[in-house]
Amino acid sequence: MNLILYIIIFIMGTLFGSFYTLAVYRIPKKIDITHTHSFCPNCGHKLGFWELIPIWSYLFLGGKCKKCNKKIRPRYFILEILSGLVFVLIAYTLKIDAYNLQTASLIKFAFLVLYLACIFIIAGIDKEERRIEKSVLYYGIMVSCAYIIYLCIMGQTSIYRYVMYLVTLIVLLILDTEYQITKAKQNYYIETLMLIIVMIVNTTEFVTILSVAVVCVSIVLTKIIYYLKNSLNKYKKEHKDLKQIHKFAYLLAIANVILLIGQMKLYY
Ligand SMILES: [Zn+2]
Repeated sequence: MNLILYIIIFIMGTLFGSFYTLAVYRIPKKIDITHTHSFCPNCGHKLGFWELIPIWSYLFLGGKCKKCNKKIRPRYFILEILSGLVFVLIAYTLKIDAYNLQTASLIKFAFLVLYLACIFIIAGIDKEERRIEKSVLYYGIMVSCAYIIYLCIMGQTSIYRYVMYLVTLIVLLILDTEYQITKAKQNYYIETLMLIIVMIVNTTEFVTILSVAVVCVSIVLTKIIYYLKNSLNKYKKEHKDLKQIHKFAYLLAIANVILLIGQMKLYY
């Protein structure tokens, strides 16, 4: 029975994974993510029912588009499996049990699923374009607000801690809008700070601070290795490019998901 439940959770994870990759592809191109039918990016061929099923469609079609034979990047296939595994791990750490279903665990699971959608899509777009997609960030802020309201209704938390985060978020939103109006471009740093607050609300302060620390240390280490390998002049010249290479939000999201699962395994 539990095996069936976890298979269902895995399939659910792959479906969500398929949606994340679609969102990462479509949102920056301003293509509707819910109403437009899935299509091959190369020839525009509309995908049939079997071609829409994650993992299976990849194996079924041999990793190629049915019409134009263009190779589908295996990345999609890998991401769908990873997403399924993350869902299973989270359900497992929340001790979701088919014989003893607890409403609180299921609600926590549902909130984490909503949160993961925000984190995965932000990470994907940041990896491709090195920017934080604002609409997805706003969605994450809404999920965080809903979670805070839920925790307060259940009396699981003191409201004051979260009021502080909400006030900080509002201040950052104002600063970000101000920057956008005056400079006519996005501010990666303000948006990263907002993302960090969304992370704190959904995955606790401990996991978030640890995630930030891990990412900072790994960036510093890469810089040191890069410096040791190259001469100082070259380093100075290429430092600007190197800065572009580090996709902070992308790295932060990966660290956050791994540490979240690790921490839940320890405490639940
Ligand atoms: Zn095609």
